[in-house]
Amino acid sequence: MSDETPVRLGTWPTPLEPAPRLARLIGLEPDDLWIKRDDLTGLAGGGNKVRKLERTAGAALRQGARTLVTSGAPQSNHARLTAAAAARLGLDAVLVLKGSPPGAVSGNIALDGLLGARIVWAGDVDQAGLNAVLDEVAGELRAEGAAPAVIPFGGSSVLGARGYADAGHELLAQAPDLATVVVAMGSGGTMAGLVHALGADRVLGVDVGAVPDPVRVVLDLVGGLAGPGAPDPPALRLRRDQVGAGYAELTDAVRDALTTTARAEGVVLDPVYTGRAMAGLIAAVAEGDVRPGRRTVFLHTGGLPGLFGHGQAMEHARGLVTG
Ligand SMILES: *Cc1c(COP(=O)(O)O)cnc(C)c1O
Repeated sequence: MSDETPVRLGTWPTPLEPAPRLARLIGLEPDDLWIKRDDLTGLAGGGNKVRKLERTAGAALRQGARTLVTSGAPQSNHARLTAAAAARLGLDAVLVLKGSPPGAVSGNIALDGLLGARIVWAGDVDQAGLNAVLDEVAGELRAEGAAPAVIPFGGSSVLGARGYADAGHELLAQAPDLATVVVAMGSGGTMAGLVHALGADRVLGVDVGAVPDPVRVVLDLVGGLAGPGAPDPPALRLRRDQVGAGYAELTDAVRDALTTTARAEGVVLDPVYTGRAMAGLIAAVAEGDVRPGRRTVFLHTGGLPGLFGHGQAMEHARGLVTG
């Protein structure tokens, strides 16, 4: 078995479902728009991080790790799924999260606890500060003999991104006439893997504001996937108009995208990633960047647990229920 052979954590292939009512509402023909359901990847709440963890956690296991360690935002889907992967593989999980212990536990944090992860609260730190705490925690675990393996932020190493190169091929088998796949861009591995498999022209990324230089992050991963000597990385299609006031803040466009998608198709998006990706798709159709008569696939990358941990999204829902 090569060092890159994945472990199995999910259920594949994920479904590709039509979204004709939503298509019509946003200005496409009914048969144009399909949703690739990577929210249904099978492990603890699902989502795109499962494809990456099959590779990164697989490598950790083969290297003799007994503890998976990772970092993220308080409502990190990646941290929750790392905890779930550890449980599935018989390993311990330690999650280094930004912020301090919340008064009320909700969303992904509740699942982290149920899944048996230990959470280390890193305080009010930036990315460098978070990495410093992560290094410290990994060092302590090593000293204790807990054999830690650090899973990168968002699972977005070149190894993790290969999970989405595979997903690109899986999608092409389901939709050979694919013109554009629309995807949220956070730590970049998902978009990078798709660009590697499908070409930059067919991937429309929507930045969520998780990293300061998203173009550089994706290009570096694409370069790593292609290997040395590959031609210069292509120009990316990456929208940066949906970030709004920042990663954790709900925008009006995302509010509309969440409500419209739920009511048109019975599909629930999350306020940080997939809601922004849908808002980006709606804007791209309005501008003529995504056009009727061609196959568009919206990649649903999961995040439902995060909806229940997002104060502004719950406030929006409360307004819909109580009028
Ligand atoms: C992490 C995440 C993304 C973004 O994927 P990256 O590979 O980090 O860019 C999109 N959607 C959801 C729900 C996520 O949790």
